[in-house]
Amino acid sequence: MVLKDVFKRPLLDLRISVTDRCNMRCRYCMPREHFDKNHVYLPKSDILSFEEIVRVVEALLPAGLRKVRLTGGEPLIRKDLHKLIRQLRELSPELDIALTTNAHLLSKSIQRLKQAGLSRITVSLDAIDVDVYQAMGDTTSTPDSIIESIDKTLALGIPVKVNTVIQKGINENQVMPLISQMGSRNVPIRFIEYMDVGATNSWNLEHVVTGEELRHKIGKEFGSIQPIKPDHPSDVARTYCTDSGYVIGFIESISKPFCGDCSRARLSANGSIFTCLFATEGFDLRGILRMNASKNELSTAISAIWGQRKDRYSETRSEKTNLKRIEMSFIGG
Ligand code: SAM
Ligand code: SF4
Ligand code: SF4
Repeated sequence: MVLKDVFKRPLLDLRISVTDRCNMRCRYCMPREHFDKNHVYLPKSDILSFEEIVRVVEALLPAGLRKVRLTGGEPLIRKDLHKLIRQLRELSPELDIALTTNAHLLSKSIQRLKQAGLSRITVSLDAIDVDVYQAMGDTTSTPDSIIESIDKTLALGIPVKVNTVIQKGINENQVMPLISQMGSRNVPIRFIEYMDVGATNSWNLEHVVTGEELRHKIGKEFGSIQPIKPDHPSDVARTYCTDSGYVIGFIESISKPFCGDCSRARLSANGSIFTCLFATEGFDLRGILRMNASKNELSTAISAIWGQRKDRYSETRSEKTNLKRIEMSFIGG
């Protein structure tokens, strides 16, 4: 039986945050002045074990779950992540198991991740220019090293997409170089509108560059771009193709919200289910997991949560200015 929320949206996609820690300090996500040595991260005992995560996924598979995405924080800093992937793969050969990563640690783990059964990877890369990259990510690592990891991943036959958050006046000039670099590798690139998640990034509408603005500029540089039909209505990106076959997506959650087809739930590292990226509260599953709930009991609990879901934050954003916002690094991007 497929789970449906109040608006008849199914639960198809679970984003699993495996840690709230990260080895970068992207200014738009974990600005260092907030995520400094005084920041309190989740204690280890609060974080779900791999077995607990697997039990949640197992309970959701009969209810129609088709995809999990491992995220965080930075998922590759969770020790032995490949072991979680192997356990998830053992649950189902068809399950789409994706990873979103900043790729700093990808090169040394990619072989193990592939052997464990990872389906595909999304790499976050905000610039090709080293100074822009290092300023946005507040990091000493270089975009060249990230591109090397992408090439190594492609050489192993694992599909890669790249995600780029565009901020006005900060990395707009990186759009064309990123398209050229990724297009020539046949790697789809998706431009994400800067979102008002969390309470630490001083988000402001004026910092947003809309997908429409970008399409206009890209059209001038690469010629007309043609829309590609989405594989599934719940796909977050609107995708286009240039004459030369470069695939470019736009995740327009500010200017063209896509809540109507949103079939994503999030599982935070400490075991709460969030039914929206902008949900102010999660529903604790860890308690019942640690009381040895059966698969059926877990499934019933998640059905009850999903069954009452009415979230459509991006469509009602302007009405909600005083929300208590959860950080993306905690809830899982
Ligand atoms: N650390 C991993 C990474 O960066 O790929 C995974 C977690 S990160 C929270 C997931 C995605 O969220 C990244 O692609 C990142 O660029 C995006 N993101 C974070 N904060 C954002 C914001 N305020 N607006 C739009 N996207 C954001
Ligand atoms: Fe870390 Fe990813 Fe957030 Fe950047 S976007 S700070 S890499 S969690
Ligand atoms: Fe889904 Fe919430 Fe984002 Fe709308 S705002 S697309 S309901 S996560």
